[in-house]
Amino acid sequence: QHLVEDLKNHNAQLLEQSLIDPLTGLGNRRMLEYRLDVALPLTRRLDCTVSVMMMDVDHFKLYNDHYGHPAGDQCLVQIAGVLRDTFRRETDIAVRLGGEEFLVLLIDTPSDEALRLADAMRGMIQAMGIPHERSPSAEVVTVSVGVVTSPPGVSADIDRMVACADEALYACKASGRNTTLARTLKVQEASL
Ligand code: GH3
Ligand code: MG
Ligand code: MG
Repeated sequence: QHLVEDLKNHNAQLLEQSLIDPLTGLGNRRMLEYRLDVALPLTRRLDCTVSVMMMDVDHFKLYNDHYGHPAGDQCLVQIAGVLRDTFRRETDIAVRLGGEEFLVLLIDTPSDEALRLADAMRGMIQAMGIPHERSPSAEVVTVSVGVVTSPPGVSADIDRMVACADEALYACKASGRNTTLARTLKVQEASL
C-alpha cells in the first residue's frame, strides 16, 4: 500500500516537473499543450471568447551582453513575477515558451479587456525599473506584446492565434518596441 502511494506521489512529482520551467516557476510549453487539450474544446463548445498574448523582452541580447547571463536570468524571473501577479484567475494560462518569450491565454476575456491587461502588464514591467543601459529604445527593461482575440463564432485555433499574435508582436518591434498591439480574428476567416 505504501509503495503504491509513494509511486503515485513520485509520478505526480515527475509530471509536474516536466510541465514547469525551472528558472521562473511558470508553466512551460508542455504545460500549455497539456492545459489547452482541455481548455480549447471547452471554449469551442461554450463558444466563448479566447485571447492570446505573445510577449517578448526588448533588446534582451544587449542586456545579456552587457550585464551577463545570470543577470538576464534574474530579469526573466522578475518578469515572470509580474505575469503571476497580473493573471490570477484559475483559467488563465501563463507560460514561458522558451528564451525570453512568454505566452498568456485568457478564456472568456474580450479584446478590450485583454488589451487593457496586456498594457498594464507591460507598464508594470517598465515600472520595475530594471536598468538597461544598452537599450536603444528605453533606459529600463521593457517588453513588447502582441494580443489576439478569437471572438464567439470563431472556433479558437491555437496555431492561428499564435501566428496572429506573433505578427502583432513583430509590428510592435518594428514600431519602436515597449508597446502593445491587439488584433481580432474575423468570423469569415474561421474556416481558413
Ligand atoms: P528584440 O527587441 O528584437 O526582441 O531583440 P532581442 O535582442 O531581445 O532579440 P533576440 O531574439 O535577438 O535575442 C534574444 C536573446 O535572449 C538571446 C539571448 O541572449 C537571450 N536569452 C534567451 N533565452 C535566455 C535565457 O534563458 N536566459 C538569459 N539570460 N538570456 C536568454
Ligand atoms: Mg525573442
Ligand atoms: Mg527579444
